[in-house]
Amino acid sequence: MPRWDVEVVDVNNLIPSHLLRKELEGFPQLSEMDVVRHFTRLSQWNYGVDSGFYPLGSCTMKYNPKINEEVAGMKGFAHIHPYQPESLVQGILKLMVELGGFLSEITGMDQATLQPAAGAHGELTGMMMIRAVLQARGEKRKRVLVPDTAHGTNCSTSTVASYQVVEIKSNERGVIPPRKVEELMDEEVAGIMVTNPNTLGFFEEHLAEIAEIVHRKGGFVYCDGANLNALMGIVKLGDLGVDMVHLNLHKTFSTPHGGGGPGAGPLAVKRELAPFLPVPVIEKEGETYRLNYDRSQSIGRMKAFYGNFGVILKAYAYILSMGAEGLKRASEMAVLNANYLMKGLKGSYHLPYDRPCMHECVFTDRYQEKHHVSTLDIAKRLIDYGFHPPTIYFPLVVKGALMMEPTETEGKEELDRFIETMMAIAKEAEENPDLLRQAPTKVKVRRLDEILAARKPKLKWIPNK
Ligand SMILES: *Cc1c(COP(=O)(O)O)cnc(C)c1O
Repeated sequence: MPRWDVEVVDVNNLIPSHLLRKELEGFPQLSEMDVVRHFTRLSQWNYGVDSGFYPLGSCTMKYNPKINEEVAGMKGFAHIHPYQPESLVQGILKLMVELGGFLSEITGMDQATLQPAAGAHGELTGMMMIRAVLQARGEKRKRVLVPDTAHGTNCSTSTVASYQVVEIKSNERGVIPPRKVEELMDEEVAGIMVTNPNTLGFFEEHLAEIAEIVHRKGGFVYCDGANLNALMGIVKLGDLGVDMVHLNLHKTFSTPHGGGGPGAGPLAVKRELAPFLPVPVIEKEGETYRLNYDRSQSIGRMKAFYGNFGVILKAYAYILSMGAEGLKRASEMAVLNANYLMKGLKGSYHLPYDRPCMHECVFTDRYQEKHHVSTLDIAKRLIDYGFHPPTIYFPLVVKGALMMEPTETEGKEELDRFIETMMAIAKEAEENPDLLRQAPTKVKVRRLDEILAARKPKLKWIPNK
C-alpha cells in the first residue's frame, strides 16, 4: 500500500467539548434480554416463506435453499469492489458469462445481459432494444400489441418506451387467438409482448403461429418469462419464435423477494439483436475476459457496475446445484402442485377456466358472492388460519380473482392442509358469513385502510404524536 498523504486528526478533538452531549435525555434503559425479546417478537409478527405457505400467484414465493445465501456471502465474492481492475475479477466475469450462457440455454436464446435489476427493468431493456433496431432500419413504428392476460408491467414498459398499447382479447380458453393478432398486426406495430405462461396460468399454445404472423410484418416477439418456473427444461421459448425474453432471478432462481430487496431481470435475446444489448458486454479474448463498452449499436448502460451481483451469484449457484434434470423436475413439480390444488378446490370455489393449468390456477368468489362474502373476505380469513393469502383481484380479466401459485417446494401435507382450510372457509361463507367479513381477528392489525395508505403514505414514524 502507498503511504497515506492525509494529515492525522484526533477524532476526539474534532467537535468542541461544549457542543458534546454528556447524556441522552430520555434514553431508554433496557437490558440486553429485553432488547432481544423485543426484536425477536417483532420478527414473529412478520410472515415469510420460512414461516409458512405463501401461495401468492404470479410471484413464485418458493423456498430458496440457504446454501445459495451462503455462497453469496463468501468472502471472495462479498469483498470484491466494482472498481477493481478486470485482471483481478476474472472469475467474476467468467461466472457472469457462464450464467448468461445457462439462461440462454434454458430459454433457447443466444446471448443475455444480466444488468436489469428487476423484471420490469428487463422488459424496458428489451423494448428499448426493439426501438433501437427499428431505428437502425429506418422505421418508426407506433404500437405494441399486449394481450389482456399480460402482466401489468408489459403495458407500462411499452408505454414508457413510448409505444401505444393495443389490447388483444384472450379467447374462451384464456389464450391469445392468432386470428386477432393477424387483424391487428401491420407495419406500424413494433411487436407483441406475451406473458407466457400468462397470468391465467395457461401456456400460450399458439405462440409459434403468432410469432410467424408478427415476423411476417417485420415486428418482434417479446416474451415475459417471469414465470419460467413452469417451463424450465420443458419448453425453449426461442424455438417458438420468441426474439427476446426476460427472467426473474428473484422468482425462479433462488433470490427471496417481496420486501423490495434487490432482484435481477436478465434479458436473453436472439443473435440478430445482440449488437443492441446494453454495455458493457463481457467478452472473452483468448483466456481473458474483458468488459467491452465500445459497441456502436448498444442502447447504452441500464445499471451501474455489474448489475445486482449477489442475485446473479445465487442464480448461478442454484442452477449448478440443481443441474439440468433438477430444474426440469422443479418445473414439473410446480405444475403438478398447481393442478393438485386446482383439483382439490374445484367444487368449493368457482373455476372460471376449467382446464389443466401450468404453475398457477385462478378461482373466483362467485359461489361465495350469494352469501355476500367476497374475495377480500376469503383472503383475510386465510390470515386467521396462518396462511398468506393468494393474489387477489388479479388478473383483471377475471372478476373477483383468487390467483394461487403453490410452487414446487411445498409438500403434499401442506397443500392438503391449505385445501382443507379453503374448504372450511367456503363452509363458513355459507354458515357464518359475518365471521368472514370481520376477518382477520387474530392478528395485530385487522383490515387496513389500503386506499388511505396509498393516497397518504406515512413515511416517517413520529413517536407519541
Ligand atoms: C413479477 C412479474 C413481473 C415484474 O417483475 P418485477 O421484478 O417485479 O419488476 C413481470 N411479469 C410477470 C409475468 C411477473 O410475474
